[in-house]
Amino acid sequence: MRRAREAAVPRDLCTALEHLLGASVAHVRVIEHSWFARLHGRAVATTRPGRIYLRGNAADFFADPWLMLHEYCHVIRQWQPGSLTAARYLLECLRRGYWNNRFEVEARAFADTHVARLRALLARAPPAAAAPHPSSASRR
Ligand SMILES: [Zn+2]
Repeated sequence: MRRAREAAVPRDLCTALEHLLGASVAHVRVIEHSWFARLHGRAVATTRPGRIYLRGNAADFFADPWLMLHEYCHVIRQWQPGSLTAARYLLECLRRGYWNNRFEVEARAFADTHVARLRALLARAPPAAAAPHPSSASRR
C-alpha cells in the first residue's frame, strides 16, 4: 500500500480554480493515497476544512476537472464558511442518502456548471469525447 503524502497542486490549476471559485485555494492541501479517504467506502475522495483526501494518486485528480471542481466546492464553499460540518453531513445522509444530500447536490451542480470553463482555462487538448466541429456543410 502506498503511503499518504501531500501533493503539490500545479500553479495553473490553482489559478484556474481560484478564478472559478472566486477565492484562494492556496491553503487547501491535497493528500494522495489517503487511508482517511479509504475509510469512506468507495468514495474516490473526501474533504475536511482545508483538505482534500484522495484514495488514489494526485495526477489522476489533477486530470479530472469535474472532480476537482466538486471537491474544491466542498472545501471552499461549504466547509470554509461553516455550512458543512461532519454532523450536518451525516444528518443529510441519514435523511436523504448520499446522492440526494444537499452538500453533494450543490457540489455536483457547481462542477456541472463550471467544468467546460475549467477545461478551457486549462487549455488542454480537447477530450476524446468532445463533439466534432461542425462540418463544412453547415457553413454558409
Ligand atoms: Zn462530494
